[in-house]
Amino acid sequence: MNIINKRLIMIFSVIIIFLTVTSILIVSMFSNAEEYALKSVNAHLYDSGTILNAGDITDINGNKIAYTSNGERHYSSNPSTRAALLHIIGDNQGFIDGGIQDTFREELCSYSLLYGVNTETKNTLCLTLDAELCAFAYEQLLPYKGCIAVCNYKTGELVCLASSPSYDMFNKPSDIENNPDYDGVYINRLYGGLYTPGSVFKLVTALGAIENIDDIHTQSFKCTGSYNTGEGTIICNDVHGTVDFTQALNYSCNCAFAQIAIQLGADKLNEAFNLAGLNSSVRNCDRILNTDGKFRTTADDTLGTLGWTGIGQADTLVNPYSFLSFVCSIANGGTSYQPHFVKTAVNSNGRTVYTAEPELSSCTINKTTADTLKEMMRSTVSNYYGDYRFGNLTMCGKTGTAERDNEKPHAWFAGFSYDDSFPYAVVAVLENSGSGLQYAGTAASEVMQKLYNTIN
Ligand SMILES: [Zn+2]
Repeated sequence: MNIINKRLIMIFSVIIIFLTVTSILIVSMFSNAEEYALKSVNAHLYDSGTILNAGDITDINGNKIAYTSNGERHYSSNPSTRAALLHIIGDNQGFIDGGIQDTFREELCSYSLLYGVNTETKNTLCLTLDAELCAFAYEQLLPYKGCIAVCNYKTGELVCLASSPSYDMFNKPSDIENNPDYDGVYINRLYGGLYTPGSVFKLVTALGAIENIDDIHTQSFKCTGSYNTGEGTIICNDVHGTVDFTQALNYSCNCAFAQIAIQLGADKLNEAFNLAGLNSSVRNCDRILNTDGKFRTTADDTLGTLGWTGIGQADTLVNPYSFLSFVCSIANGGTSYQPHFVKTAVNSNGRTVYTAEPELSSCTINKTTADTLKEMMRSTVSNYYGDYRFGNLTMCGKTGTAERDNEKPHAWFAGFSYDDSFPYAVVAVLENSGSGLQYAGTAASEVMQKLYNTIN
């Protein structure tokens, strides 16, 4: 009797183990089926790790910027357009970080749990980007490293995006791994870049002042070309005399903004940095994660450090994508959508199988504050930079010339069209180029004017 019982228990145990292992396998197969099917060892989609078989990718005008024909993956026939679009589409081998050929594999390869990968009918991924404008923007960046992006601030749709350095994937430079000209070449700098902001940061200090200093609009600030904080001296770009808050931004007066930063203190300045969304790392609806900014100043730092922080020097670092979201929110009355560029995926029957659902921006500020900043940025262009620099556009903007030890400065421009019938915001960073207005301001203006002329 004992022996029979023991045998029964053993058989029962074996059955239980068998059922458990089988269940785990089935669940794992279903939950990871997509990953298995889309792996680069799948010969239907890849050859030696190179993507071959995926659907079309089209720009906003319906131009095919990637497609498969006769078992080969094709891109733009123009080598410089291929280089300009490399960071958006990605390359065949998957070197590029965040290319949509990788992040939207499921949609592009028409995968479903029921039917697996369908190699006959493929979906088309429709972007909001204008490929020609991206190629033009890429030319404006050269020969510098950096990025430019233009976004519709009402919808969050990016119409232009370029990152430099880049390369033609069909003619990859042999020295790409050790030539410093290609440092960070696989990174899309809009999402992965982290820069000293220089004077574009004065928009953050101004945001803090509007929110926290009641009489900021009636204060005046003295600039003799330098400002002694008592714990270090801040040097200005000029002798501005006595300026009010708006003039301080117009002239980008370091002395005035150092005084404002000291009034605010490290905690309120940090609060403004967070309110602007610059500390946020967000995975947007394009499934791309941007790098979060760094604000390192604390209440223990000297007044000199606090002053330098308020004018965008010191240790603060900013990501261009976050800064674009910030200016989109200023332009759009305090809030906006996260910038993104994948709009829909459509199958061969014309049925939409994916529609972007953009999230609200990580920067949400109140409307009065946003409108005040908007008017101050408008007067900075009209009273100081000059409207003539922007052709037919009515622009709001702020430049930054971020000083670097033993290097040329990083040039920044962040701004947007004041006219909401042309609702576009722009951010441009040209690394180690020189003056913000001269380099980033010019590049941003050229791209915005080209977009304006294309639409009108
Ligand atoms: Zn000054």
